[in-house]
Amino acid sequence: MRTIGLIGGMSWESTAIYYRLANEMVRERLGGLHSARIVMTSVDFAEVEELQASGRWDRAGELLATEAARLEAAGADFLVLCTNTMHKVADAIDVATKIPLLHLGDVTADAVRSAGLDRVALLGTAFTMSQDFYRGRLESHGLEVLVPDEAEQAVVHRVIYDELCRGVVLTDSRRAYVDIVDRLVARGAQGVILGCTEIELLLSPEDLDVPSFPTTRLHVEAAVHQALVGRNRR
Ligand code: GLU
Repeated sequence: MRTIGLIGGMSWESTAIYYRLANEMVRERLGGLHSARIVMTSVDFAEVEELQASGRWDRAGELLATEAARLEAAGADFLVLCTNTMHKVADAIDVATKIPLLHLGDVTADAVRSAGLDRVALLGTAFTMSQDFYRGRLESHGLEVLVPDEAEQAVVHRVIYDELCRGVVLTDSRRAYVDIVDRLVARGAQGVILGCTEIELLLSPEDLDVPSFPTTRLHVEAAVHQALVGRNRR
């Protein structure tokens, strides 16, 4: 089995789900007492959020590149960056190590394409919804990506930082998200990408009338697959 390198803490509320799901999926596939081989680093999210808010993405890239190098030195065979937003600095992480980064945009696009869809809504932080680093990656796989309007984006973003990243899950916020998804579906979205690793805390497939693509679960499934496909190498 290969060793998964998790770059976590953004926020730890979702990294905890990565850790639990990875172990559950390995147990499901291998049975018995098997569990995932993981090395993990977990940053102080307050520090990262400050760099995001002040637009110091170069510094954020350096910070995560250092964490990636630590994981490589600790024996990780590949890297999983446990946040959609920080894929904005994926290149900085990629060049810092010789091991591959399992890019969440690619994993998500593959899942949407496999479901036979090509026009999807994207929910995430304002950075993820409004900038090109993530949408562009999805579009490079042939997808059309719809995002909420500016006022709706502000709601989605606020709920992530003020509630979900602090472990707060509110019914009113769930309703607000469902309304926003309904409007995106009325605009032509065939499904919705839960493009922030905390949104799975708030929304489940039963809340929605269209297929959803939960990026935390999809990322872990891809990581476990990659870990097990190479299981005889170490
Ligand atoms: N975990 C979130 C994401 O997937 C947001 C927190 C962050 O800014 O990294 O985008």
